[in-house]
Amino acid sequence: MTSTKIMKLAEGKTYTFYRAACDCGHPDHDITLCVSMDHNSDHVELDIITNSFSSDAYYHPKDSWFMNLYHTVKFRAKGVFDIIFNGYHKSESIFQLRGDEQIDAFVNAVKEGQTKIKELQSNK
Ligand SMILES: [Zn+2]
Repeated sequence: MTSTKIMKLAEGKTYTFYRAACDCGHPDHDITLCVSMDHNSDHVELDIITNSFSSDAYYHPKDSWFMNLYHTVKFRAKGVFDIIFNGYHKSESIFQLRGDEQIDAFVNAVKEGQTKIKELQSNK
């Protein structure tokens, strides 16, 4: 089952991919679900694949243009130094489901993929 915000992307014998759209409509927030069979353990596996990004959309109307520029440059420089000295840069993103219909569609997509794998396992 899919809805306008949850769609099936691809399906194979041991996997199903779904794309779930964030309620805000920004495509960078969308996530990809992969329900598959782990061939080593025979367990159902759910992978959630997200985009990771940092935004420097810092703007405070009470600050001067110089202070806004300062905070933007400071944010970017911190990211560069994090990567140089730590090897990674932390970022966070929000994926939002809103309303029963979208939440149910999300849950149904996961259950649909899970049921398919369980049927595969029982036919072994
Ligand atoms: Zn969003």
